[in-house]
Amino acid sequence: MTYDAIIIGSRVAGAATAMLLARGGYRILVVDRTRFPSDTISTHIVWQPGVARLIGWGLGEQLIALEAPPISTIEFDLGPFSLAGVPPPSGPAENAYAPRRTLLDSMLANAAATAGADIRDGFTVDGIIFDGDRVAGIRGHGESGVVLIEHANIVIGADGVHSILARTIGAHEYNVHPPLTCWYYSYWSGVRNDRIRFFSREGRAFGCIPTNGGLVCIPVIWPHDRFAEVKRDIERHYLSSLDLAPDFKKEVLAGKREERFYGTAHIPNYFRSPYGRGWALVGDAGYHKDPILAQGISDAFRDASLLATALDDVFSGRSLWGPALGGYEAARNSAVAATYEMNTQFAALAPPAPDMRALMAALRGNQRDTNQFIGTITGTFPVAEFFAPENVQRILTKRTQKSQPGAA
Ligand SMILES: Cc1cc2nc3c(=O)[nH]c(=O)nc-3n(C[C@H](O)[C@H](O)[C@H](O)COP(=O)(O)OP(=O)(O)OC[C@H]3O[C@@H](n4cnc5c(N)ncnc54)[C@H](O)[C@@H]3O)c2cc1C
Repeated sequence: MTYDAIIIGSRVAGAATAMLLARGGYRILVVDRTRFPSDTISTHIVWQPGVARLIGWGLGEQLIALEAPPISTIEFDLGPFSLAGVPPPSGPAENAYAPRRTLLDSMLANAAATAGADIRDGFTVDGIIFDGDRVAGIRGHGESGVVLIEHANIVIGADGVHSILARTIGAHEYNVHPPLTCWYYSYWSGVRNDRIRFFSREGRAFGCIPTNGGLVCIPVIWPHDRFAEVKRDIERHYLSSLDLAPDFKKEVLAGKREERFYGTAHIPNYFRSPYGRGWALVGDAGYHKDPILAQGISDAFRDASLLATALDDVFSGRSLWGPALGGYEAARNSAVAATYEMNTQFAALAPPAPDMRALMAALRGNQRDTNQFIGTITGTFPVAEFFAPENVQRILTKRTQKSQPGAA
């Protein structure tokens, strides 16, 4: 049988794309070498735009049933002071959530199966099948080792950074930045979990993210070139980093580390051309950035939606392949252009430039604009609008007027 689409990878990008296409009545096969439920490297944050997608897909109640706490307040600790606020909502989604990936990814795979997609986990794709210069299917093996070939009108790589499809095709990469950071994180009990906290220091960042079971996920982030050194003694480097926020360190040490450390330094920053003859890429396979602003899951949901719409247009004859998939790439790129640059600046772990420092200082005591600044991180306030020179000037002027003697 020839499927309408075969999707390699059944996590947030692959399962969401499969669910949407299967709901459209298409015959979809999803394969993943992992057996689910399965964890993956992640600090789990799904910002409001990602939550809004889940609600729109009818999965809002299932998300809540995963029992990760709803999070409305985000605190951004810069050392001398911190900015805390509640970002604008994204449609119906007022809260962020950070469910463990064992739960979230299975929820999505189940939704794809419920929609009618064939899900084959424990199946590794070893090769891509071509018909001339057109991708026509996959070759792979299940746990028995038996080699299978499956055919489809389109093969979609939702197979992450190391995508076998992107590698085989030689997908063009652009707007590439070298890896900037490396990460280690673990899960702690007994630490305050009523908000997401980010700590930004020169050469270091760390966070505190409430997840399931009353635990918080605490990642520490170093410049990329320190990975080998940190890896030699993770616990020492991890805990000594927290010296940069002594009160937070006290709080953490009063709690208990419940799991081992997880880490990675394989954090490229790229866009890949996400389509060609018989193939498309979605999620990290097509666009990857440092996770410092936790955009990956929400981006994957948006791109799943854009790709499924483009493919539906093609399959149903409303659009030709080139314009439909070109539109997918353009929409993805314009949605993330400003955030990608901001993300790269944050991931440099450099001290804020003087104008940025002045802006952050001016936000103190200005709750409305602080909420909007936090919205640039959560994806619920446009980056370009917040950092527009006239908006920045307005915030700085407001601060100056406030600090004038006699000001109300
Ligand atoms: C340290 C860290 C922290 C992060 N924290 C956050 C966060 O808090 N919030 C957020 O939004 N994002 C976060 N991210 C990013 C987020 O995890 C990714 O953007 C997201 O997982 C991408 O999903 P995906 O479905 O595109 O790919 P992946 O999650 O990489 O899934 C790809 C799947 O493809 C399968 N696969 C690959 N090759 C094959 C093959 N040959 N055959 C069969 N199957 C295959 C894999 O088994 C895997 O299951 C973080 C990333 C890192 C590294």
